[in-house]
Amino acid sequence: MAPLAENLVKTQIKDKQDAVQQDIIHQEAGDQAHLASVLNDVDCIEIGTTNVCNRKCVSCPVGTSEIADKLTATSVSETHFNKILTNLSAFADKRFSLSLHEYNEPLKDKDILNKYLMAGRAFPKAELTLFTNGDLIHQTKKGFYALEQLFGVGIRHIRISIYDANPEKSKVFERLGIAKSAFNLYQNNIKKRTEFSHYRQFQGQEVLVRVLFLSTQKLSNRGGIIVTDKQQIRQGICSLPRRTLSIDYKGNLKMCCNVHHMEEGAGTWMHGSLLESKIGDLLMSDTYAKMRHQTSIGDYSSLAKCQVCDFYQKSSDRLVGRMVKTSSEKVSA
Ligand code: SF4
Ligand code: SF4
Repeated sequence: MAPLAENLVKTQIKDKQDAVQQDIIHQEAGDQAHLASVLNDVDCIEIGTTNVCNRKCVSCPVGTSEIADKLTATSVSETHFNKILTNLSAFADKRFSLSLHEYNEPLKDKDILNKYLMAGRAFPKAELTLFTNGDLIHQTKKGFYALEQLFGVGIRHIRISIYDANPEKSKVFERLGIAKSAFNLYQNNIKKRTEFSHYRQFQGQEVLVRVLFLSTQKLSNRGGIIVTDKQQIRQGICSLPRRTLSIDYKGNLKMCCNVHHMEEGAGTWMHGSLLESKIGDLLMSDTYAKMRHQTSIGDYSSLAKCQVCDFYQKSSDRLVGRMVKTSSEKVSA
């Protein structure tokens, strides 16, 4: 080939290589932007640290005999918990609600205070929230948790769920050491519960204690785990897979908080472990991305669990109060 023609071919090949390289760069930038947008939509993360509870409520998988009988008092090790937190480091600068529970009573984990401390260090802008049945909280009794101990590890929102009890007769306010009159009362007709909220200051920061009185007869069927005689055909969207990350005590990323790792067919609704895969890879996997999209448009044709689920929230009650007043900071992918 003549030198001129040879140079022309070389130039053409180089141009093509450059174009391919540009395409790859654009593709990667697009993927990163997409992942950042997916991460940025998340406003609530729940991480389980054990799978046991001291109660057996009829409205909860932990109360059903098939699951309750198989539960063991194992909890996530500090090493594995740290690995999960590290895997979520993209959230280090973001405001979101973070709670350490998943179908369990968190205060049954003997190391729970340390785990909240670790979580607070990993996510300094997160609002640490404790979901509890309150049985292990008492202001003065030995062997129980006082509120100050919980606030002392960074918890800023304590949500106590009391089932099938009359607020007038409940001893919970005595155990908390806060007069019932110091709470604001709210009848939540949408969620069919009575809510008591008390704000106070702790070390210069506002903290919130909520006591919710709920009826086990009026709770959701947990994506069909709780069998009821009401025939349910789900309609409308579900924003949970887009807005929340629900991680069990083994590090599995679940479709939503209504999945229990011991329910029949659980594997279908779990999308890999944060102990083994990067959170970005799990969230951008074809199966998770497809499920996230389908639930966000209300197409449950390939999601059998969702088809019978009556759990419905448009907005998260984890964001009560302070969180909704502030726009979320961006997450880096
Ligand atoms: S609803 Fe809460 S208190 Fe009742 S069994 Fe389930 S985890 Fe325990
Ligand atoms: S519809 Fe129910 S089971 Fe499906 S993702 Fe939403 S809450 Fe979970």
